[in-house]
Amino acid sequence: MLGIMQDRPLLISSIITHAERFHSETAIVSRRVEGDLHRTDWGTVAKRAKRMAGALDTLAIAPGSRVATLAWNGYRHLETYFGVSGSQRVLHTLNPRLSPQQLTWIVNHAGDEVVCFDTTFLPLMEAVCDQCPTVKHWVAYAAEDQLPATTKIKNLLSYEALLEASSEVYEWPIFDEQSASSMCYTSGTTGNPKGVLYSHRSTIIHALAAGLPDTLNLSARDSVLPVVPMFHVNAWGIPYTAALVGCKLVFPGPAMDGQSVYDLIEGEGVTMAAGVPTVWQMLLAHMDKEGKRFSTLKRTVIGGSACPPAMYDRFVDQFGVQVLHAWGMTEMSPLGTVGVLKNQSGDPQTQRTQLLKQGRPVFGVDMKIVDDAGQTQAWDGKATGNLLVRGPWILSDYYESGHGSPLVDGWFPTGDVATIDPQGFMQITDRSKDVIKSGGEWISSIDIENIAMAFPGVMMAACIGVPHPKWDERPIIVVVRKPDTDVDKAALLASYEGKVAKWQTPDDVVFVEAIPLGATGKMQKMVLREQLKDYQLPNT
Ligand code: ADP
Repeated sequence: MLGIMQDRPLLISSIITHAERFHSETAIVSRRVEGDLHRTDWGTVAKRAKRMAGALDTLAIAPGSRVATLAWNGYRHLETYFGVSGSQRVLHTLNPRLSPQQLTWIVNHAGDEVVCFDTTFLPLMEAVCDQCPTVKHWVAYAAEDQLPATTKIKNLLSYEALLEASSEVYEWPIFDEQSASSMCYTSGTTGNPKGVLYSHRSTIIHALAAGLPDTLNLSARDSVLPVVPMFHVNAWGIPYTAALVGCKLVFPGPAMDGQSVYDLIEGEGVTMAAGVPTVWQMLLAHMDKEGKRFSTLKRTVIGGSACPPAMYDRFVDQFGVQVLHAWGMTEMSPLGTVGVLKNQSGDPQTQRTQLLKQGRPVFGVDMKIVDDAGQTQAWDGKATGNLLVRGPWILSDYYESGHGSPLVDGWFPTGDVATIDPQGFMQITDRSKDVIKSGGEWISSIDIENIAMAFPGVMMAACIGVPHPKWDERPIIVVVRKPDTDVDKAALLASYEGKVAKWQTPDDVVFVEAIPLGATGKMQKMVLREQLKDYQLPNT
């Protein structure tokens, strides 16, 4: 027997329509590439999104066609999110930190027909435009009179002129909620990048779950700063949840340095901010230098890579800001787990240990850990295993990968190695490709890095395994020092005593000027291992 409720499809246009009706005056503030702080509101964003949809009709872009963006976080990017998906086209967010070769490959693979970009990326667009035959229109996020006088790009269009020529009266189409809404390519540290194609249904369900009190806990009373880029898994879905709850949004544009982020938080009464650890490191360093404190910030979401305990302590103890440690992946839209306590009992130390894990699953995400033979491992907080997930916002296949679905019996293998404790809190111990295997045992590189990160003078630390004749591999810690600071090698190694088993202590410290970072700001250990391939362990 079927239920007899209305069959209204879950469409992205419904969230922007809701924001327009009920939160039209709520502010959207953006630092622009022009350098100024631009103010608009949900009502205006919704109207301009409709103009954008109409402009795509005029350009004869068919439903299902891909419309790409290469842009920082800002109101024009937000309008494009809703204008493109709402009108049944597919939004494809490009990552400007990729090389021109990678970008060209991705644009061609996705078959993008329109590319909208911030003017700061003009040189990058000029470098790739000749090699992107599917692109019919290049659109600069600028007014007509701000377009460059000369450019290699033929028929470069002005976004503002396109909107101007289009009407804000537009009826969002109704179609199948399983239709593709947006796509995002994984960074592809091995092989070519892989496309993840989200649907309207997956996006809306994810947006609903993301807003829940034990997830990001967003409401109309919040002022939210997504520092995480809109080209990185849709800024963790925040633009959609923000429209759904009608909160204020504050966009940093290209300025993600400590001072700019701090000024935005204070100036715009930000209550919740989200970003990767590297961003918070720059913010905290700025606040240290200037002796600053937060006056409005209540919560910060830290994810993308593990939150170092030292960073947790600074936010929680020094500033009274709640840390929501979250884990997810491009393939998961991205939310998988968030660290929020189930109850407040227990001493602060136990709570801290719990909250430093990657968190417990958001409703909709089912997970398990298995050994290499596929055998399910115990949820005792000790047994490690390969982490598998399934759920309505987790991919079932990559876009035209030609390799067949990555699923194993309906589960997506995340490539992460984790423990799960009896309370359901999951802790990532490593990426499976970064695990260090010493004498048949696994060493968690994340644990080793966290200890180094808490040591005075250490700015960044990466733990990698290097070949060892007896133990297979031994860990070393690669360290970038803070400017004008010295780090005593012996003292750093001694600081591991009592924190990890003796055999897990790194064999050596190697100082480098920089650790290679990927397009999403994560340490590229494969590149680092390659850079240190001639390194010899002491006494081998
Ligand atoms: P990519 O896989 O292309 O680097 P993603 O953003 O999809 O980009 O990265 C997902 C991976 O990032 C996860 O599988 C995990 O290894 C890592 N990750 C994300 N959040 C965390 C976290 N809180 N702690 C540790 N690792 C994390």
